[in-house]
Amino acid sequence: MADINTDVLIIGGGVAGSAAAFAFSKKGYEVLLLEKSEKPQDTARGDHLQPAVCEILGKWNVLDHFFKSGAKKRAGSLWFDEDANFLMDANVSKLDIPEPYFMFMNHEDISNVFVSAANKNESFSFMCPIVSCAHIETNDDESLFEIKSKDGTITTAATKMIMIADGVASNMGRYFNFERTSFRYERALAVLFSDEYEADEFNNLRTYLTDRGIVTMIPRAKGGCKIGLTIDRDEIKSWKKMSSKDYQKFIGKLVPAYKDLKMYSAGIYPPSMIIAENWAKDNIVLIGDACHGLHPGRSQGMNTTIKCVDHLLGLIPPKDLFKKENVIKTLEQYQKEMKSNINELLEANHSMGLSMDNFDHQSKVDEIEKFKLLEQDKEAGHTYRMKSAGYGVF
Ligand SMILES: Cc1cc2nc3c(=O)[nH]c(=O)nc-3n(C[C@H](O)[C@H](O)[C@H](O)COP(=O)(O)OP(=O)(O)OC[C@H]3O[C@@H](n4cnc5c(N)ncnc54)[C@H](O)[C@@H]3O)c2cc1C
Repeated sequence: MADINTDVLIIGGGVAGSAAAFAFSKKGYEVLLLEKSEKPQDTARGDHLQPAVCEILGKWNVLDHFFKSGAKKRAGSLWFDEDANFLMDANVSKLDIPEPYFMFMNHEDISNVFVSAANKNESFSFMCPIVSCAHIETNDDESLFEIKSKDGTITTAATKMIMIADGVASNMGRYFNFERTSFRYERALAVLFSDEYEADEFNNLRTYLTDRGIVTMIPRAKGGCKIGLTIDRDEIKSWKKMSSKDYQKFIGKLVPAYKDLKMYSAGIYPPSMIIAENWAKDNIVLIGDACHGLHPGRSQGMNTTIKCVDHLLGLIPPKDLFKKENVIKTLEQYQKEMKSNINELLEANHSMGLSMDNFDHQSKVDEIEKFKLLEQDKEAGHTYRMKSAGYGVF
C-alpha cells in the first residue's frame, strides 16, 4: 500500500507542471506535484500570456487571482525601424475577443500563482523540494514511485497518470524512453534588464527592426523592462565579459533612442527546438518544454503549454471513470489530436527561429515593408493581430 494514492502525479513545478496541477485539481482530480528546486524560477524567461490563453485562464477561474497577485495588462506591440520611425501598432484591444489584452508577470511569479491557487483545492498536494523521484513499477492499475525529500523522508506514491513536466532537459522523459528530435539555432537570445525604462500607458512592447535583427523592449510587471536581442554564438564569450556601460553602448548603436538607458545582463539563452516524437505513451504524458522546447523569440512556450493542458483537460475521463486503462485511451487521443493541431504553430515558430538566425540588412528592409503594409491593410492587419493574440493558429 502506497503512502499517497493520487490520480495524477506531476513531475516538475515550472509553469507547465503548476498550470496542469491547478487545472486538474480544480476539476476535482487528486494531484501530487513534485518540484526539486526551492529556488525561484529564472525571472528572465517567459512573462507574456496571449489573449487566447487569458480566455482559458478565465474559464479555469484563475485569471482574477493573477491580477490580484500583480499581473498587468498590455495592449500589444508597436513596431518601429531602428530610428524609431513608427511602422505598425499590433494592438489587440479592439479585437472582438473575450480578453482583449496580453497579461504579463515576472516569470517566477507565474508558477507561484498557479501553486497558491491550487493550494485552495483540497485534492492538491505539493512536495518541494524533493531530491529524487524514482519509478518502481507500473502494473495494470497504477504506477508506483518512491520520492525522497530533502530532509531524507521517503514517501511512496501510486498514480493512475504520470505527467512529465521537468523542462527541456527532461531526464524523466529520457528515463521513460521518449525519443526527441532537436534543432540548434545559430544565434543566441541575449536578455538585458533596465530598471529605468518607463512604459507607455498601455504597457506596449516596442520592437525595433535593425540590421542585426529585432531589439525588443518589454515592460516588466514590477517596473523597468527586459530587452531582448539575438547575438551570434561566437559572441557569447565576449558578451558575458561586457560591462553595463558596454551593453548601453551596444544597444544605443543599434537603436539610438536608447543610448542613455542604463541596463545590465539578465541572461543568455542559446535556443534549440526540441520536439518529442511521441507526446504520450501508456499512462504517461509529456507537457511543456519537456514535450516541445521552442525558440523563445515568439513567446510561445508557456502559451502553447497552457493550450495543451486545457485540451487534455477536456478529454480526460470523469473522476468516477478515472482508471489507468481509460487514461491510456485518452492520452492516445490527445496525442493524435494535438500533434496535428499544433504542427502549424511549431512550423511557424521554427521558421521564425531560422529567420532570426539569417537576419541581415535585406531582411530588415523586407520586414519594414511588411509592417508598413500590415498597418495600412485592415484585413491583413486584423489577421496578424488575431494570430498574435493566439487565435487562428492552434
Ligand atoms: C528569454 C525567454 C523568454 C520567453 N518568453 C516567453 C513568453 O513571453 N511567453 C511564453 O509563452 N513563453 C516564453 N518563453 C518560454 C517559456 O519560458 C518556457 O516554455 C516555459 O517556462 C517552460 O516551462 P516548463 O514548466 O515546461 O519548464 P521549466 O520552466 O524548465 O520547469 C521545469 C521544472 O521541473 C523541475 N524539475 C526538473 N527535474 C525534476 C525532477 N526530476 N523532479 C522534480 N522536479 C524537476 C525544475 O526544477 C523546474 O522547476 C521564454 C523563454 C525564454 C528563455
